[in-house]
Amino acid sequence: MAVYNYDVVVLGSGPAGEGAAMSAAKSGRKVAVVDSRKLVGGNCTHLGTIPSKALRHSVRQILQFNTNPMFRQIGEPRWFSFPDVLKSAELVIDKQVASRTGYYARNRVDVFFGTASFADEHTIEVVTHNGVVEKLVTKQVVVATGSRPYRPADVDFSHPRIYDSDTILNLSHTPRRMIIYGAGVIGCEYASIFSGLGVLVDLIDNRDQLLSFLDDEISDALSYHLRNNNVLIRHNEEYERIEGQDHGVVLHLKSGKKIKADALLWCNGRTGNTDKLALENVGIEANGRGQIAVDQHYRTSVANIYAAGDVIGWPSLASAAYDQGRSAAGSIVEDDSWHFINDVPTGIYTIPEISSIGKNEQELTKEKIPYEVGKAFFKSMARAQISNERVGMLKILFHRETLQILGVHCFGYQASEIVHIGQAIMNQKGEANTIKYFINTTFNYPTMAEAYRVAAFDGLNRLF
Ligand SMILES: Cc1cc2nc3c(=O)[nH]c(=O)nc-3n(C[C@H](O)[C@H](O)[C@H](O)COP(=O)(O)OP(=O)(O)OC[C@H]3O[C@@H](n4cnc5c(N)ncnc54)[C@H](O)[C@@H]3O)c2cc1C
Repeated sequence: MAVYNYDVVVLGSGPAGEGAAMSAAKSGRKVAVVDSRKLVGGNCTHLGTIPSKALRHSVRQILQFNTNPMFRQIGEPRWFSFPDVLKSAELVIDKQVASRTGYYARNRVDVFFGTASFADEHTIEVVTHNGVVEKLVTKQVVVATGSRPYRPADVDFSHPRIYDSDTILNLSHTPRRMIIYGAGVIGCEYASIFSGLGVLVDLIDNRDQLLSFLDDEISDALSYHLRNNNVLIRHNEEYERIEGQDHGVVLHLKSGKKIKADALLWCNGRTGNTDKLALENVGIEANGRGQIAVDQHYRTSVANIYAAGDVIGWPSLASAAYDQGRSAAGSIVEDDSWHFINDVPTGIYTIPEISSIGKNEQELTKEKIPYEVGKAFFKSMARAQISNERVGMLKILFHRETLQILGVHCFGYQASEIVHIGQAIMNQKGEANTIKYFINTTFNYPTMAEAYRVAAFDGLNRLF
């Protein structure tokens, strides 16, 4: 067994692992990363964020071609198969892997491919893909092993028509009708992707409202646009059993309904990847969802072991995972610029796209904060009209008296980019974070960013 010595060993090469490894290496630590795949990038690159966003981009391009009258001069609307759009996602994955592999090489971070487990708190054993065992002795460890779809025992995931958000990327045809079980972010995003490909989607929601953490108005808009795109949303439903048949799936709901489709995509919950880590050898206990508890320094109950990313639970976003990994490394190297990540914007890549930061109307009302609302509808904006992207709205919530910005909520074209302007202003100190910024600033014209000025005037006009 070969033995290697490091300052920091990072388990997992997703965004959390990469953030931790790069920060520790840049601070002069000798770093190794272990990943159980044969390529770097984590589930984020191979199964989650990147493929789903690339799929969505292709679907939006198809929708634009099919709905824009200008394109009728060059042909009738055309439909593409799921495998067709998957090809473009695969190209993006390859490019991402190439860039990320280069980052590790440039920062002299050693990469081991194999399954890691703790022998003790300073020793990691890696079983490589050809069965060789390597021993990594280290001062500190960052666990960044991510998560995988939660698979309840009573659902037969070996059935060829039953998929989860990992295995859906193996789908080799376009179903005519599909059930998506679970209407969280991943379920809603895949509902947009499949309905955009012309698939009849039944979206099964355990709750009475889609993505109830969003501002009500934005959640309502999402429901409207999904329905408008032929998604049948069924709220307050739970499965009794899922029956795989020769040429399809029947979903039996506790409410007595039966729904038949060509395929079912399970999007209900995720589990932290801790089962192979032999955590018992270091005295760390994962919770029922496979997640590890950390303190504000991303330190676990064992002093030299840290954790970041999906494996610690909320918010389970690549965006936050990267920063959590950097902060974990910051704690390790005692760099006092690290911070606990809690100010995370929401970016949801449904069709239409959704993004928000800060408080929503329900929260402000509950907290009895006197706020006012300013809105800009994309349908009236020049850039949106030129781009033929007229669905959407920007809404700014601000304090009636101090004019401080309290929340920014957006849906439609470029929402996840637009929200960052509001986030930047919200984070300014003193009077610089008021809605007045947007009326005293010259915006490029025509831009989507200009929506801030329109929304600010709309809101200020409501004051008396
Ligand atoms: C369909 C989908 C869409 C998503 N879209 C978005 C989005 O648009 N925006 C966003 O911010 N987030 C999105 N997410 C969430 C995002 O992908 C995750 O939050 C992110 O991947 C978490 O990063 P991570 O570094 O914690 O772990 P991961 O990316 O999960 O990587 C962990 C790595 O560790 C490896 N590993 C596990 N166990 C071991 C072991 N014992 N030894 C060695 N290696 C191990 C895994 O194989 C994996 O390669 C999406 C997720 C899904 C599923």
